[in-house]
Amino acid sequence: MTTRDDTKTTKTRLDALRVEIERRNPAQPEFHQAVHEVLDTLAPVLAARPEYAEPGLIERLCEPERQVIFRVPWQDDKGHVHVNRGFRVEFNSALGPYKGGLRFHPSVNLGIIKFLGFEQIFKNALTGLGIGGGKGGSDFDPHGRSDAEIMRFCQSFMTELYRHIGEHTDVPAGDIGVGGREIGYLFGQYRRITNRWEAGVLTGKGAGWGGSAIRPEATGYGSVLFAAAMLRERGEGLEGQTAVVSGSGNVAIYTVEKLLALGANPLTCSDSSGYVVDDKGIDVDLLKQVKEVERGRISDYAERRGASARFVPGGRVWDVPGDVALPSATQNELDENDAATLVRNGVKAVAEGANMPTTPEAVHLFQRAGVAFGPGKAANAGGVAVSALEMAQNHARTAWSPARVEEELAHIMGDIHTTCHETAERYGASGDYVTGANIAGFERVADAMLAQGVI
Ligand code: GLU
Repeated sequence: MTTRDDTKTTKTRLDALRVEIERRNPAQPEFHQAVHEVLDTLAPVLAARPEYAEPGLIERLCEPERQVIFRVPWQDDKGHVHVNRGFRVEFNSALGPYKGGLRFHPSVNLGIIKFLGFEQIFKNALTGLGIGGGKGGSDFDPHGRSDAEIMRFCQSFMTELYRHIGEHTDVPAGDIGVGGREIGYLFGQYRRITNRWEAGVLTGKGAGWGGSAIRPEATGYGSVLFAAAMLRERGEGLEGQTAVVSGSGNVAIYTVEKLLALGANPLTCSDSSGYVVDDKGIDVDLLKQVKEVERGRISDYAERRGASARFVPGGRVWDVPGDVALPSATQNELDENDAATLVRNGVKAVAEGANMPTTPEAVHLFQRAGVAFGPGKAANAGGVAVSALEMAQNHARTAWSPARVEEELAHIMGDIHTTCHETAERYGASGDYVTGANIAGFERVADAMLAQGVI
């Protein structure tokens, strides 16, 4: 039986651990934020299951198994040499090979990759598909670079990364700044260096050479399915609801597409220069043309769309009223003030398409206001889940139909929702998907770590 004393001791231990993690990982605020969010929710499970309170287990979970940092030199089209930094953080492989995307963005540093890798452990555990957690990337800025420059950068990046990855070891994929084009160049260089056709070493490949159907769509589709499941739990549907979506990359585009397919009305999308509101609902074909084909800015969408759309330079997309909010751009893009505005405007559900887009204060505000809040670990797990299905297809040397992959994705998202919901209930936090996702993911990883000994 758990006593109040046990709970207090656990809390004191977690507080001490939190201080120690900050001391040993200085200047990594996003990593601290991601760790704190998990530790804040674990006290009830540590108190109820003494085996999890074993000294060293949480400490091991918060320390990456391996961290690789490397130089990425490359030449631009004018012959100038640039030096970027590459990262791969192999965080936890208790459940399977390290799995997680690569992010190419000037904001990337070790702390960002560690926060993403840490979140990925729990997200991947929630999919139930036998994948560990990892993440990588570079501070390379792909913006405005030619195709040839992107190719040379990817080749240089892989020339070091190849020795650390493999279909049974570590399987990277895309994230911000890394899509089908980059995965193609990375795969080509891996194949050339290793002289192996090892399809399962990267996911997000092209449809004709080992990629899974629905992988590009999976993260966005999945987060809409998660939002729909949260609404269903409250006796509502998505049909006829208005939605505020941020971002205009891969996640946002397919979030908009799925919202439209389910009869909802996505009103917005955004990029770093501002946002677009479209009273008629975002035209997903035009959005794809502008962003995926032309690699343009979101303001181009407003110019081409006509009277229903306007571009608001530099504004906050969260000022637009909507029934559902789907932050799908980047970390900490939705703060306490934005949350207060959304609540005032009657938002009912928030599903995180991006990783950690909502600040901790904003999450608490939503929860206090009774808004259904789906954390990224659960809500955006559809992307990595279909990556795991891509690995399964590669191992079997087969390709499933889009309908089959979509059906699997819907099942997986439904299961993740149920798991988070039931786990929260079991630990006295009914309706709290953050606690449900953290504890359910933790239980799976911790059980495997305990069974495999102190390594
Ligand atoms: N970058 C995506 C994520 O945050 C996908 C990772 C993958 O497919 O491995 O989950």
